[in-house]
Amino acid sequence: MNLNLKVNSKDHLEIGGIDTTEIAEKYGTPLYVIDEEKIRDNYKRVYNAFTKFYKNFKILYACKANTNLAVMRILESEGSNIDAVSTGEVYTAIKSGFSPDRILFTGNNVRDDEMAYVDSEGVRINVDSISQLKRLAKIVNPDGNNDGYKISFRVNPNVGAGHHEHCITGGPMSKFGIMEEEAVEVYQMAIDLGFKPVGMHSHIGSGILNPEPFKLATEAMMKIAGNVHKNTDVEFEFLDFGGGLGIPYTPEEPLLDIEPFAEEITGIYKDKLADYGMGNPDLYIEPGRYIVGDASYLLTRVNTIKNSYRKFIGVDTGFNTLLRPSMYGSYHHIVLANNANAEAVEKVDVAGNVCESGDLFARDRILPKIEEGDLLAILNAGAYAFSMASQYNSRPRVGEVLVNNGESEIVREKETYDDLYTKQIVPDRLK
Ligand SMILES: *Cc1c(COP(=O)(O)O)cnc(C)c1O
Repeated sequence: MNLNLKVNSKDHLEIGGIDTTEIAEKYGTPLYVIDEEKIRDNYKRVYNAFTKFYKNFKILYACKANTNLAVMRILESEGSNIDAVSTGEVYTAIKSGFSPDRILFTGNNVRDDEMAYVDSEGVRINVDSISQLKRLAKIVNPDGNNDGYKISFRVNPNVGAGHHEHCITGGPMSKFGIMEEEAVEVYQMAIDLGFKPVGMHSHIGSGILNPEPFKLATEAMMKIAGNVHKNTDVEFEFLDFGGGLGIPYTPEEPLLDIEPFAEEITGIYKDKLADYGMGNPDLYIEPGRYIVGDASYLLTRVNTIKNSYRKFIGVDTGFNTLLRPSMYGSYHHIVLANNANAEAVEKVDVAGNVCESGDLFARDRILPKIEEGDLLAILNAGAYAFSMASQYNSRPRVGEVLVNNGESEIVREKETYDDLYTKQIVPDRLK
C-alpha cells in the first residue's frame, strides 16, 4: 500500500497528528484538510533528488494544482518558483510573495491585454505560438526594437503521456507549443524581432508514473534545443521539462521513485548538453500534482444509505467539490475515517449530492460496512481538487483547514449563501 496512512489507537484516521473525527467535529463537513508537512516533504524530496545530480536546478511549482494562499506561502518559504498558466495565477503568486523573477508565465491562447499585464509585472513569458510572438513584439515595444527582451518557447516534442486523454499535452493531437519542424525558424524570427530567446519548455502531460515517456520527451526536447543552438545564436539559460510527475491513487499503483528518476533525467540532460556544446543552463521542472496531491483529504459525512438497484452510500458533497472522478473517471481512495482498520467487505457506490447521475466518488468499490453518520476521507484531494471546484447546484464552496504538528487552522472559510450571488446585478426593471 503506497497511500501511507496514519491510524491512531482508536482506529481513527489521523492527518498531521490530528484525529480526523475531531477535525470533522470542530469544523463540520464537507471539508478539505491540508497536511503542511507533506507538502514540505514532497518539495524537498524532488529538490534534493535533482540537485544531487545537477546543481543548476529549479522547481517551478505548477500552481494550477492548488492556489490556496497558505499552500503558496509554504512553497514560497521552501524556495520554490512558480509555473503560472493564467494572469490570475501570476497575480496570486505575486500576492503570495513570489518576486517576478521566480515566476514563469506559460499561457495558451493568450490575449494581448493579458501579455501586457504579465509584462508590466516583470514576469517572464513562455511563448506558445508564432501569433503570440508577433503580438508580444508589438506590446513590448511598439517601435519595433525589443532590446534583447528575454523570452522562451514552449515546444511540442511530439511525445505525449498522461492519466487521461484530456491530460496529454504533447504529441500530434495537442494544441500546445510550437512544432519541432518550425523551432529553428521561430527562434530566428524572435531574434529578428529583437527578442533574446533564452529558454525552451515542454510539458507532455499529467499523472505520469512511468519514467519512460518523460525520458523520451527529455531526449526529444534536447534534440530540438541542440538544433536551435546550432542553427541560431541562441544560448540557453534554462531548459524546462514541465510537470506531470504522477502519484499513486490506488493502493496498487507504484510510487514514482524520485531519485533514480532524477538521476536518469539529469543524466540525459548532461549528456546532451555536452553533445551539443550548450554549457550548463538551468534545468527546470514544473511538478504540481506531485507536490500537493497527497497532502489534502476531503472529509465528507455519510447521510443516506440506499439499497435500490445498487447499494449507494450517499455523502454530503459531490463533484462540485472534487471533479476528478466524474470528469476523468479517476480513482480516489476512500477510507472509513472513524474505523480506518475495518476490513473491506461489500461492493458499493459512493454517491455525491449533486443532481446528476455521474456524481459518484466511486463505483463498485469494496469498502468496509458503512453506516449513516460515518466519516469518509477521500484521499489525494490536494491537486486539481479545490482548484476545479464550482458552486454548481448553488452549493457554496467548502472550507479548507491546514494541519501541522497537531494544530489546525482555517485557511479558507467556507462560503455562505451570499457568496453565491456576489457580483450579480438584477436590472431595476426586474425588481
Ligand atoms: C499543468 C501543468 C503542469 C503541472 O502538471 P502536474 O501533472 O500537476 O505536475 C506543469 N506545467 C504546465 C505548463 C502545466 O500546464
